[in-house]
Amino acid sequence: MNRAQPLSRVRCVVFNAALGVLDYRVPAGMDVEPGSVVVAPLGPRQIMGVVWDEGRLPGADFPESKLRPLLAVMPVPPLAAPLRRLIEWCADYYMAPLSSVARMALSSGAALRGGGTLTEYRLTGAEPARLTPQRKAAIEKLEGQQGTIRELAAIASVSDAVLRGMAGAGLLEAVQVDSDRPFPHADPDFATPTLSDDQQAAADQFVDAVRAEAFAPFLLDGVTGSGKTEAYCEAIAECLRKGRQVLVLLPEIALTETFLARFEARFGAPPVTWHSSLKSSERRRAWRAVAGGTAQVVIGARSALFLPFAKLGLIVVDEAHEISFKQDDGVRYNARDVAVMRARFEGVPVILASATPALESLQMAENGTYTRVVMADRFGGATMPEVSILNLTEHPPERGRWLAPPLVEALKDRLAKGEQSLLFLNRRGYAPLTLCRHCGYRFKCANCSAWLVEHRLSRRLACHHCGHEQPTPDKCPECGQPDCLVACGPGVERIADEVAEILPQARVAIVTSDTLTSPAKAAEFVAMAQGGAIDVIVGTQLVTKGYHFPELTLVGVVDADMGLEGGDLRAAERTYQQVAQVAGRAGRASKPGEVLIQTRHPTAAVIAALASGDRDAFYAAETEARRSAGAPPFGRWAAIIVSSEDEAEARTAAREIGATAPRLPDLAVLGPAPAPLSLLRGRYRYRLLVNARRSSEVQRVIREWLEPLRFPQGVRVGVDIDPYSFV
Ligand code: ADP
Ligand code: ZN
Repeated sequence: MNRAQPLSRVRCVVFNAALGVLDYRVPAGMDVEPGSVVVAPLGPRQIMGVVWDEGRLPGADFPESKLRPLLAVMPVPPLAAPLRRLIEWCADYYMAPLSSVARMALSSGAALRGGGTLTEYRLTGAEPARLTPQRKAAIEKLEGQQGTIRELAAIASVSDAVLRGMAGAGLLEAVQVDSDRPFPHADPDFATPTLSDDQQAAADQFVDAVRAEAFAPFLLDGVTGSGKTEAYCEAIAECLRKGRQVLVLLPEIALTETFLARFEARFGAPPVTWHSSLKSSERRRAWRAVAGGTAQVVIGARSALFLPFAKLGLIVVDEAHEISFKQDDGVRYNARDVAVMRARFEGVPVILASATPALESLQMAENGTYTRVVMADRFGGATMPEVSILNLTEHPPERGRWLAPPLVEALKDRLAKGEQSLLFLNRRGYAPLTLCRHCGYRFKCANCSAWLVEHRLSRRLACHHCGHEQPTPDKCPECGQPDCLVACGPGVERIADEVAEILPQARVAIVTSDTLTSPAKAAEFVAMAQGGAIDVIVGTQLVTKGYHFPELTLVGVVDADMGLEGGDLRAAERTYQQVAQVAGRAGRASKPGEVLIQTRHPTAAVIAALASGDRDAFYAAETEARRSAGAPPFGRWAAIIVSSEDEAEARTAAREIGATAPRLPDLAVLGPAPAPLSLLRGRYRYRLLVNARRSSEVQRVIREWLEPLRFPQGVRVGVDIDPYSFV
């Protein structure tokens, strides 16, 4: 865009949700344009903001003489128009403040201040004879690490002063690094695989779309083990050749390690990573490389969607059905949907890859909005695993145990053959409920309406909702009786104990978010599993996706019925996806796989579909159920969540919202009712559910409905558009 005259006044989105949009004067000599990141005065303070396009945001027209001048422009490229449109769309669609969304694009404070050199430290390797225990422990944790004093202090869990002392004693040395040093170069032709016909057909379509440089949404619908990654890597290669950037979204940080290794093998260099556990200097470097156009490929968690790519050419969302793409606090958005919108604004292709696509995505393929690309067979002639139902009513486990005899036999058989097994139970910890045998006391979270979960490995009771933890006591806090606590129900730790009793020689690994706490731990697990150092893996949903362990031939689903409880709208779909994904870990190489699904409801539609492998029948039935319920993708849901630390205050506010609900022919309002988690992090919660026909503009209706209402200070009203969690 060519401007005749420099801007003399601008409207800015300032980083304060309550203020939102403010006008400023541009002082003489300052050059700003839409997207410029600026520092502006606010009372006696300063605030960061982004200059927005003229005429797109409402605001009062103050005379120019009353406006205060901007203070500075940050030394970063202005946010490009497609990203500004995406920010506007998200704010509007998800009913979030514009500033909260814009902030997500400027997620590295250090990056905004520009490049430069910084001093980092690393171990010198000196080994003095005498070391304080603190220094000794710090050295162990800092092995192979380099970072600023503050970053290393966090890694070693010591104070800055301890590290400065170590630097003084010659244990750590300083290194000057360029904060903008380039990332290693990925080569599109480093190691090109020979593709199967299916892969080649898929790759050709993607490559054509990359060349066309236009919006093109794809649903890559390929069975587990079909080699989806190799197929979309050809599109990545094409982007690299054209000098355009690629964004690949993955649902879990734990998965990135496997992906990094595969990426490096294909392109000769690791991609740039973006997730919440990056150190601040790493964030700064990555952000600036993305904005400068030198980061070729970024692998990231959902927050990477808002990075300021200079010349984006392709977006890939892998495991696109995953619910972890839905963000449930702050700005409540679904990264899968936002990815498609970003691709649209940028005018580039987007590939949603999954073996178990969300019903919404399949429907979009069905109605022609997305191009469906099917890969029906496993790569390299591997066969799909044999799936059988284990009816727990017919084959009850022994008293106090959870694994039915046929599953126990199968585990023994695999151990004898030196093959691996995987047991899946989506419950962390040892037991979901602990009670006193003597007086019946149950351990409950003080901040939430939830039981405390026993974690025996770390000897604590934990709330999985607010993070509250307490040591497991030796006696009942109510009646004082010692040794009277009983664990009710299984968690993965308890299943691991059971395996250890049945197969004392087996090497068992528990894989949950409690054990894979960092990318390094994830890498360690993968190396052990691939190296044959683990016989039985017991894990939560974390092990259901992405992993490829050639020796894994048995998968046992400990409780397929668990996900069906709770009445969540997507319960059946989620159960189907989880079990199909975990089943997909079995028999991915030359040895065939077997899957045993433990259930008490063998005739339930979803269980039967899993057993017969009839995905289409399941999706067809589920589609009809959704259609008749007016649920997505045929209707829209929105949740209004009212919370307060004061129970009565929350209830009154929720009732008022309910009483003023609009009466419209295609809109139904359910509630208010106490939310299933009626107490969460010390706040009492009420919930209303809004169900609208697809055609109605649910956001506008809700906006007009809530806007005139006033509530006491302590009341929070949040709106969740297209909610996933109904708690
Ligand atoms: P999916 O993601 O569809 O479940 P993967 O992409 O993990 O499947 O592929 C399954 C396995 O097959 C992986 O180990 C992968 O390296 C291998 N593979 C896939 N395509 C090829 C190919 N063209 N050449 C060699 N190995 C391949
Ligand atoms: Zn809690």
